[in-house]
Amino acid sequence: MNVANESADTPVLVWFRRDLRLSDNPALTAAVKTGRPLILLYIYETSTHRAIGGASNWWLHYSLEALAEDINRLGGRLVLRRGKAGDIIDEIIAGTGVSEVFWNRRYAQTARQTDQVVMETLKLRGLKVHSFRANLLTEPWEHKTKTGGYYKVFTPYWRKVLLDAVIYPALPKPETLKGRAANETVSSLALEALGLLPRHNKNIPDWGASLKPHWYIGEAGAHNALEQFLDGPVSAYSEQRNRPDDETGTSLLSPHLAFGEISPRQIWHAAQRHGHESAKFLSEIGWREFSYVLLYFNPELARKNFKPAFDGFSWENDPKKLKAWQTGQTGYPFVDAGMRQLWQTGWQHNRVRMVTASFLIKHLMIDWRLGEQWFHDTLVDADPASNSASWQWVAGSGADAAPYFRIFNPFGQGEKFDPDGAYVRKYVPELSTLPNKYIHRPWEAPKAVLDQAGLTLGVDYPLPVIEHKFARERALARYKASKT
Ligand code: FAD
Repeated sequence: MNVANESADTPVLVWFRRDLRLSDNPALTAAVKTGRPLILLYIYETSTHRAIGGASNWWLHYSLEALAEDINRLGGRLVLRRGKAGDIIDEIIAGTGVSEVFWNRRYAQTARQTDQVVMETLKLRGLKVHSFRANLLTEPWEHKTKTGGYYKVFTPYWRKVLLDAVIYPALPKPETLKGRAANETVSSLALEALGLLPRHNKNIPDWGASLKPHWYIGEAGAHNALEQFLDGPVSAYSEQRNRPDDETGTSLLSPHLAFGEISPRQIWHAAQRHGHESAKFLSEIGWREFSYVLLYFNPELARKNFKPAFDGFSWENDPKKLKAWQTGQTGYPFVDAGMRQLWQTGWQHNRVRMVTASFLIKHLMIDWRLGEQWFHDTLVDADPASNSASWQWVAGSGADAAPYFRIFNPFGQGEKFDPDGAYVRKYVPELSTLPNKYIHRPWEAPKAVLDQAGLTLGVDYPLPVIEHKFARERALARYKASKT
């Protein structure tokens, strides 16, 4: 492409990635400002080192569907492709004469490498490439400690961000997305052809059908979730955020953020209007930012212990126990409710994530990476930064991690945060008739109580896969011995 040939009809290309929205999308806004015809592209990349998990693929299908409809309404068209990003972009440029390419930055290692190669190649050919920050409040490299390093502890990091960061107003949605004619010369796959839904694979059950009623996917759904949360629950967030039995206790924004259907900046400004009431909520957005700092400076965060002292840790990795955990059959109702919530809805409450992760790592002595992988595959909000940073936090191998002697009590946590057992009753219905006193520890229920509830332990619901006291002492001894 010879840039000298550019005219008002020369199209520009917007490459959507994890920014599946039209408002506060800096790359899109900048492309629209050129006044040129737009080619709007999403590539399902096949050359990333880590395949997208099943639940995330499922979400992505509906998120792309919503984005395509929103784009259509403004007079544009979303082009869908599957393959290697560089090859597809080359082909589109060759066929259309695109002279400028716009995208929003991403931070996982392979994605960054891909972007760098594509950018350098295009620049060498005389094209202009523009990249923007869109999915974080501040860039991971922006805030440094006094000694010039990156922050490894959350509280001083967030204090610094609150002090220094200038968060500009969010950008409005473009009024029109012209360029349908230019776009139509580019071939597109049908959404179904990306094969993202489980129903496209006859060998696996269509678990997606059970996830659907829980979510309103897409940009409008993201703003709906934000408004509902800010309309009331935000004022009780500090206490209720720990209560999995309160379904409105948290914002449920995580999958929307993971796919970029809403920007943290939009959340920031909307929440600011609630003053100090929203400080705790915004600090959780801060944990997301902090996780990206850790990922940016530790690209192997999902595979490598942040603290190398953990490299020699001796795990048990019993496959039967792993399966019991994955399927919610550990015999600990609070843990099982969490694992079944994850399977049925694609999401798990944060308090419960800490307990289920701790149970896998510390009670079952299973390598945190196996848990991280299961979450990666089953969470609709699976996020390369938050998931790996949080797993390492629970394991004690991470930055600013939970101390090794913090071993969550799997029934004590239930009694504290689900005191009436409503959460357990919802996801472990076989226990629903047990009285509150035993709902979190059915193995202690006298036979008469079990009979009354029509429950035979070991038949209708498992006995604990491991005894709590034994597991706790073993974990403490193992952590101590490994000097982690
Ligand atoms: P809210 O409480 O409403 O919080 C608002 C937003 O803040 C969330 O949407 C999320 O973007 C961010 N946030 C909240 N808590 C955290 C946290 N501890 N770390 C980072 N960001 C946070 N979150 C993910 O988005 N993706 C993951 O893959 C993920 N994996 C996790 C794995 C484990 C083992 C643990 C303990 C936590 C994990 N989290 C993950 C963090 C947290 O559990 C979820 O972000 C939260 O439950 C999402 O629900 P919400 O949107 O209602 O959160």
